[in-house]
Amino acid sequence: MDLFEHQAKELFASYGVPVPTGKVATTPAEARAIAEELFAAGNKKVVIKAQVKAGGRGKAGGVKLADDAAEAETLATQILGMDIKGHTVHKVLVEEGSAIKQEFYFSFLLDRANRTFLTIATVEGGVEIEDVPHDQLAMIPINALEGVDAAKAREIAVAARLPEVALDGATDIIEKLWKVFVSEDATLVEVNPLILNAADEVRALDGKVSLDENAAFRQPKQAELEDKDAADPLEAAAKAKDLNYVKLDGTVGIIGNGAGLVMSTLDVVAYAGEEFAGSPKPANFLDIGGGASAEVMAAGLEIILSDPAVKSIFVNVFGGITACDAVANGIVSAYELLGSKGESVDRPLVVRLDGNNAELGRQILNDAALPGVEQVETMDDAARRAAELAAVGA
Ligand code: GDP
Ligand code: MN
Repeated sequence: MDLFEHQAKELFASYGVPVPTGKVATTPAEARAIAEELFAAGNKKVVIKAQVKAGGRGKAGGVKLADDAAEAETLATQILGMDIKGHTVHKVLVEEGSAIKQEFYFSFLLDRANRTFLTIATVEGGVEIEDVPHDQLAMIPINALEGVDAAKAREIAVAARLPEVALDGATDIIEKLWKVFVSEDATLVEVNPLILNAADEVRALDGKVSLDENAAFRQPKQAELEDKDAADPLEAAAKAKDLNYVKLDGTVGIIGNGAGLVMSTLDVVAYAGEEFAGSPKPANFLDIGGGASAEVMAAGLEIILSDPAVKSIFVNVFGGITACDAVANGIVSAYELLGSKGESVDRPLVVRLDGNNAELGRQILNDAALPGVEQVETMDDAARRAAELAAVGA
């Protein structure tokens, strides 16, 4: 999960990292009120910043300085509703304007290729890090067990060639950002720019944080940081049922067991779809995992059926630890479960069962003779049939 800049900065502040004072506004009037407070507190300038989860907001016109509250309101009017790289701006951060002497770049990240944590830092900040020549970057691996103490933080700041006057401030911030990185289970903590201001203080002027969702179980407070407005309603419903579901924009609903199988099912369906009118494509990714119980199967079908774009459904199962007969029984019970709730499976279902107890599974489905259910033996043929039914149903 990526955080908005204002969330990243609030997190930084809670670990003692100095950031400019500011608040979030969703309307120009709110922005004006916050700006009035900031000017009343003695600030000479106020900055209005688009809150979208995309970089390069400055270049896109999403970061502007105002000299008075009226101008802040005008700028907020312009920035709210703006589209930045496909993201609509719904909120702006209104904060005290900083007088910048120098801009630096700093980040901690997970370096998967080298199986380590890494810091990247350079005196050449404020521009996109990809544009900084490689030989200008200090790239220092961080030992997970040793972490970053004051000495290590200073070593990083010096390697980044930060000026003498910024060393103490930067060292303190780097040490604290490591605490953020570890304590919050982040995979990225980036500050671009880290600035030296007119008063020779070092501050985090921007913040980008990615949190590791695999650690969500031990980070209960982080649930509040989720951007509920942005989530797809079906994905949210699936998440509430612990289903691994991703909405896509096609018409063939997909259910499979195991992420790898579901991924290849998406490819096979997209390929098979090319033969038919309108080239039907997968409508979703849904992995029901190992234990394809009736409840899980019913929950999966329910999610897929509530997507009006879905014209046909392809259930692709390779029996392993969960044998095909259990999956077949799951499908039969799912139909009963949905029926008892007054819902029905009103779109055709193509089932391909293979692997452990496939014969028995097929027999169970044949005997049940569920309306609209067809069995096809191979994955390719089943994908073709599901695509054909989607094309007909469209
Ligand atoms: P990004 O473009 O999305 O990375 O947004 P940033 O928050 O990094 O802002 C982009 C640039 O705007 C910074 O590199 C600064 O040069 C400038 N900027 C942001 N805030 C201020 C400020 O308070 N004062 C001044 N003078 N410039 C600012
Ligand atoms: Mn930035």
